[in-house]
Amino acid sequence: MEIIRTAQLMTTWANSKVGQGETICLVPTMGYLHDGHLALVRKGCDIADNVVVSLFVNPIQFGPGEDLGNYPRNFERDAELAEESGANVLYSPDVKDVYPDGFQTKVSVAGLTTGLCGASRPGHFDGVTTVVAKLFNTVKPNSAVFGRKDFQQLAVIKKMVRDLNWDITIVGHPIVREKDGLAMSSRNAYLNKEERVKALCLFDSIQFARKQVSSGNQDAGALKKEIEHKILEYGDVLIDYISIVNAETLKECEVVDKNSVLALAVKIGSTRLIDNGFLYKNA
Ligand code: AMP
Repeated sequence: MEIIRTAQLMTTWANSKVGQGETICLVPTMGYLHDGHLALVRKGCDIADNVVVSLFVNPIQFGPGEDLGNYPRNFERDAELAEESGANVLYSPDVKDVYPDGFQTKVSVAGLTTGLCGASRPGHFDGVTTVVAKLFNTVKPNSAVFGRKDFQQLAVIKKMVRDLNWDITIVGHPIVREKDGLAMSSRNAYLNKEERVKALCLFDSIQFARKQVSSGNQDAGALKKEIEHKILEYGDVLIDYISIVNAETLKECEVVDKNSVLALAVKIGSTRLIDNGFLYKNA
């Protein structure tokens, strides 16, 4: 596996693969890799000749007071894991290379970014779409794999690609979970023992909601209230949002149907966690 540190070298590498008629799949990450990320890399290996894993903690997608300064990092371990999973390149530029002095451009998707995480993290998705646009132009991928864990992000990226006519296939990968159901996340490293137990409120809520729906409760408003009660029983969990939305439009549903997704964000101690899931079995 090659480690590439600058956009210029990354594009030289990409041009040579494109020139040889080989395909490239990009897996964007902020590092501190876990099995969720590695599943995305393996998916990339199935669909392309070359997989580029990007590792970049993108400062412009963090708001003031968020965890940019503490974000967990372990470059050596990430490099080992990426290589073991089949990546051909680990692309890890530094901040000045991505945003040189005088950088002034923003890529912004409007409607889909206003609710859910967009409402509580103003500017977050502009940071995401700007860096992903730069990664697409630098790495020249035919496809890119994103996790459904960041469900709104996936919808926003798909929209950006459609709106800007990029010829890149966006692949959504299912959420990879710990044995007890907690969605894997680099931020789980922040949780102490008690917080780790409370973090199960997310997956428990999804399972609870699925059971309710399968027994005929399709009133989204009533369901959200019941979920709120359930989460509050865990104690010391701050609810950011409990939403039941259409998977494509991200608009709130009144009645749960096959396209309805329960999306949750909570703060446990100082750690913000998100999770989501379709509410119908086999949806
Ligand atoms: P991050 O490093 O958190 O920015 O995540 C990089 C990519 O990995 C994003 O597309 C995430 O959606 C995806 N990802 C993170 N955690 C998981 C997980 N538990 N299951 C599937 N994909 C994930």
